Amino acid sequence: PLDKDELGSKSWAFLHTMAAYYPDKPSEEQKADMNNFFHIFSKFYPCNICAKDLQEQLKYSPPETDSQEKLSQWLCKLHNEVNTKLGKPEFDCKLVNQRWRDGWLD
Ligand code: FAD
Repeated sequence: PLDKDELGSKSWAFLHTMAAYYPDKPSEEQKADMNNFFHIFSKFYPCNICAKDLQEQLKYSPPETDSQEKLSQWLCKLHNEVNTKLGKPEFDCKLVNQRWRDGWLD
């Protein structure tokens, strides 16, 4: 079985990659579906404390589904809140598309 950290890093990889490939101009249906996705995800995420905290986060910071940029930035901030809670460094959200879509420029 996956432990909490391995489940976490694999789940973040999936979530950030999904946000990276979300449409720039989503339809109303895509916006509603993405909002629903995160709410349902938070009910079934198989780490109880993580799922409970995520449900609270979604209440005060609902998914921003208007564009790829908005969704990716929203998810980056959400992940940073978890990073802070766990004593991990904050990620620079300006770099989120490089990390999860385009690859590093060097
Ligand atoms: P992770 O935090 O897993 O990050 C993986 C990679 O994502 C990093 O290497 C980095 O390149 C990149 N990254 C880091 N921050 C960002 C960001 N802000 N935006 C974009 N990319 C970024 N663990 C707990 O112990 N308690 C919890 O309550 C908890 N809640 C969680 C809730 C959710 C929804 C998820 C998906 C995971 C949760 N976890 C929780 C697990 C925790 O967040 C980490 O996944 C785990 O501790 C492993 O950390 P890591 O150092 O491998 O990096």
